[in-house]
Amino acid sequence: MKSKTKVVVIGGGVVGVSTLYHLAKKGWSDVALVERKELTSGSTWHAAGLLPLFNMSYSVGQLHKYAVNFYKTLEEETGQNVGFSVVSNIRLASNKDRMDEYHQYAGVAQTIGVEVKFLSPEQVKEIWPLCNTEGLIGAIQHPEDGYIQPADLTQALATGARNRGAEIYRNTSVIGIKQSSNGWVVETDKGTKEYNYKLSIERANVVKNLLIDLGIKEDNIKILGKGEIDLNIKTNDEVPHPANRRAEISPIN
Ligand SMILES: Cc1cc2nc3c(=O)[nH]c(=O)nc-3n(C[C@H](O)[C@H](O)[C@H](O)COP(=O)(O)OP(=O)(O)OC[C@H]3O[C@@H](n4cnc5c(N)ncnc54)[C@H](O)[C@@H]3O)c2cc1C
Repeated sequence: MKSKTKVVVIGGGVVGVSTLYHLAKKGWSDVALVERKELTSGSTWHAAGLLPLFNMSYSVGQLHKYAVNFYKTLEEETGQNVGFSVVSNIRLASNKDRMDEYHQYAGVAQTIGVEVKFLSPEQVKEIWPLCNTEGLIGAIQHPEDGYIQPADLTQALATGARNRGAEIYRNTSVIGIKQSSNGWVVETDKGTKEYNYKLSIERANVVKNLLIDLGIKEDNIKILGKGEIDLNIKTNDEVPHPANRRAEISPIN
């Protein structure tokens, strides 16, 4: 496991892995993701994977449009099928208010560049013969809409991220996050390989004794210099139970 990295993403669902992928794509290859179980073991596993382009917000609409276009290129890039089926999407309107909303939305869609068609009830019936069009005023259709396989998408994103140098640690739980003078220390149940604390010599000795009590070998704890010093702990030891780790942290604060 890497001991230092520019960014640690916590959680290997589609959002976390996509974040990792996009950081790597922007040129940050020194990034890592930590997932407590397997990738997609959270909500992503349960998602239907529908990609509704319909959105009244200009900015969220841009994100949807980006995502749908991106999914088309991801398979080509990674060689992994993401299960993207473009089947279009029809939204029905059975009253005038709903139709007004669709007209307002069409303005947003046009600005973003998302294709949206207005359909009469007869056209809906042609496309979808099983639809009961009684009382229907009309509908809109997004021809480019569809659905994706969320787990396959996540794995493809993971491949793309790894290909750009990102690292993924599965079956590794984050059990604590704390700020250090250089950034953040992310603690996992597999161990944090290196800590660098700046402490006074007095406090360093207190922490050193605590760490020994917690089972870290004395040889692995080095106090360097006098006054303002670096307490440099490098260890492959088993990380103490989270309840004990709180005791480890408190004297530092
Ligand atoms: C039934 C259902 C249907 C859905 N249908 C759709 C749909 O059709 N279209 C759509 O766009 N969205 C849909 N969603 C929503 C979609 O699933 C979520 O928005 C999306 O999966 C969220 O992804 P995520 O990466 O944020 O979270 P998650 O997939 O939940 O990922 C979080 C990950 O973090 C890990 N984790 C948690 N704590 C730690 C820790 N301490 N250390 C390390 N790892 C940790 C978890 O194990 C998990 O893998 C649906 C959701 C459900 C439940």
